[in-house]
Amino acid sequence: MADMLCLRVCSHFRSDVETALAGLGEEGVRVQAYPAICTLRRGRCDLAEARVTPPPEGYDGALVLLGCDGETQAAPPDPRVHLVKLDHCVHLLAGPDVLEPEMQAGAYLVTAGWIKQWREHLRVMGFDRETAGQFFRECTRELLLLDTGNDTRAVEELEAMARYLGVPCRSRYVGLDYLRLFLSGAVAKWRHLAAEAKTKEVLAQANRKVADYAMAFDLLVRLSHITDEEATIAAIQELFAMLFGCTNLVYAQVDEGRVREIFAADERPQDRLDLQQALDALHEGYLIMPSGNGFFLRIDYQDAVLGLMLVREIPFPAYRDQYLNLGLAISNLCGLAISNARTFVKLQETEQNLRRERDINASLFEQVRALADMDPLTELLNRRRFSELAEIEFARAKRYSKPIAVIMLDIDHFKRVNDTYGHGVGDQVLKAIAERLRAVRVSDILARYGGEELVALCPETSAREAERLAERLRLALRGSAIDTTEGAIPMTASIGVAVLEDGVDHLDALVDRADQALYAAKSAGRDCVRVYGSGADVSEP
Ligand code: GH3
Ligand code: MG
Ligand code: MG
Repeated sequence: MADMLCLRVCSHFRSDVETALAGLGEEGVRVQAYPAICTLRRGRCDLAEARVTPPPEGYDGALVLLGCDGETQAAPPDPRVHLVKLDHCVHLLAGPDVLEPEMQAGAYLVTAGWIKQWREHLRVMGFDRETAGQFFRECTRELLLLDTGNDTRAVEELEAMARYLGVPCRSRYVGLDYLRLFLSGAVAKWRHLAAEAKTKEVLAQANRKVADYAMAFDLLVRLSHITDEEATIAAIQELFAMLFGCTNLVYAQVDEGRVREIFAADERPQDRLDLQQALDALHEGYLIMPSGNGFFLRIDYQDAVLGLMLVREIPFPAYRDQYLNLGLAISNLCGLAISNARTFVKLQETEQNLRRERDINASLFEQVRALADMDPLTELLNRRRFSELAEIEFARAKRYSKPIAVIMLDIDHFKRVNDTYGHGVGDQVLKAIAERLRAVRVSDILARYGGEELVALCPETSAREAERLAERLRLALRGSAIDTTEGAIPMTASIGVAVLEDGVDHLDALVDRADQALYAAKSAGRDCVRVYGSGADVSEP
C-alpha cells in the first residue's frame, strides 16, 4: 500500500489543489487546509499550527505548502512533517515566465480564493473606499485574476472589486496544468524521502535485532550457569522477549503434565485454562494460537515436559513462522537448563538430607560411645575406657621418656556407710565423692577402677607433682562432710601414687605399684597419701 500523505495548503487554494490532485489520480493524498491569513502587509502570517501538528492518524507524513511565511527557518518538530517553501503563493498556479511580465506591466495578481474575500482584505488593510481606490490606482495598472477555471464566481467578484476601487481588471486563464505539475513533483519528492526514511528505519531495526541476537546468545550461555528453576525461567523469558520483541510472554511451569505456576508480567484470567488445553492438545512441540498471532511452545528435555511458553501478540505477525522456528531451535536448550536446575535442587535436597542423617547418626554414635565409656553411677570413665586411654598415654610417655603418674584412691571404711545407712545412701556418697574429685581436675583421665576405688592418670607429671595432686584430692574430700538424704557424712580416702620409672614396662605394672602405695596408705592409718618407692611404708615388690 502506498504511503498516505496529508497535504496542507492555504484555504484559498484548497479547491484548486483538490481538483488538480483528482486529475493526477493521487489516491493516498488528503488535503488539509490551514487558514488563509495573508494580508497585503507581509510578515503578519503565523502558520505555526500547520508546521507543528503531526500527520493525522493513519498518515505517514505531512507536506506543508508555504506560499507566505517562507522565511521561518525552524524545522518542524515532527520529522514526518516537511515544508515546501514558495516565494509567493501565486507560484502554485503559474511560472515566472507568465507572472513576471504581468507584474512588470503593473498588474496586481489575485487568485480565485483571494478575490472571494476582497472586502475582508480591504478591511484588514484599514482603508476606506476612497483611500483604497486611490492606493490601488496609484500602485497598479489593473487587477489581474489568475483563473484556473475551477470557480465560475471568481470573475464576478473580480469585477465587483474593480468597480468598487475604480480600477480596470482582467482575467487570465492559467488552468490547472501548472499546479498539477507542481503537486506531482512535490508528492513524488516526498514519497522518495519517505521511502528513504523507511529504509533507514528498517536498517536501524535490523541492526537493533542483530544486537538483540548477540545479547540473546549471551543469555543462552548464562542459562547454563543458573541453578534455580525460577531464575532460569526469568532468564528464558528475557531471552524470548529479546528475540521476539514480545512483552506479553507467559511461561507455565509444568510438572507431571499439569500446569503449575504461571510466570507472566500480565497474567489474564483465561491463561491457565488456555495453557492447560494447549498442553494437552499439542503434539509437535508447538501450537499456533487460534488468532494466528502467536504460538505455544513446549519446553521439554528428553521425555519430560518441563514448561510451556506462550508467545502472543508478536509485533510482526508476517514473520510468525520464522519466530516459531527460532523458538523451536532454542526450546530444547531451555529445557536442558530447566532440567539442570531441577536436578540441582533435588541434589541439594538429597545432600541436605544425607547431611542431616549423618549428623544425627554421628551424635547418636557419640552418645552411645560416651555411654559405653562411662560408669553410670559416678559418670566417670569406666575401667575399660581408662585402660584404653591409659595404654595410649603410657606408650607415649615411654616413647618420649616423659614422666607419667597414676593416682589410685580407695574410700576409707566405705562398708560402714552401707552397713549404717543402706546401699542407697552408699551410692549417694559414691556419686558425691566422684563429683567432688572431678571438680579438683587433677587429670582428664579420671575413672572408677573398682567398687569404691577411683584412679587418675596424669601425663607429664613427676612424682612430686603427683603427690601434690593426690594431696589436693585427699583434702577436697575430707574438707567437708558429704550431704546425703540421711544427713552429712564425713568421709576420707587413702591414696597411692606411682610414677613411671625404669623397670616399669607395662601399664599394669604402674597401676600395680599405685595399688601397693595405696595399700601402704591404708596400713599407715588411712586418710593419707603414699608414693611408691619413697618411704618405708610402701613395700618394695
Ligand atoms: P577400707 O577400704 O577402709 O579398708 O574399708 P572399706 O569398708 O571401704 O572396705 P572395702 O574397701 O573392702 O569395702 C568396699 C565396700 O564397698 C564393699 C562393697 O559392699 C562396697 N561397695 C562396692 N561397690 C559399691 C557400690 O557400687 N555401691 C555401694 N553402696 N557399695 C559398694
Ligand atoms: Mg574402701
Ligand atoms: Mg576397696
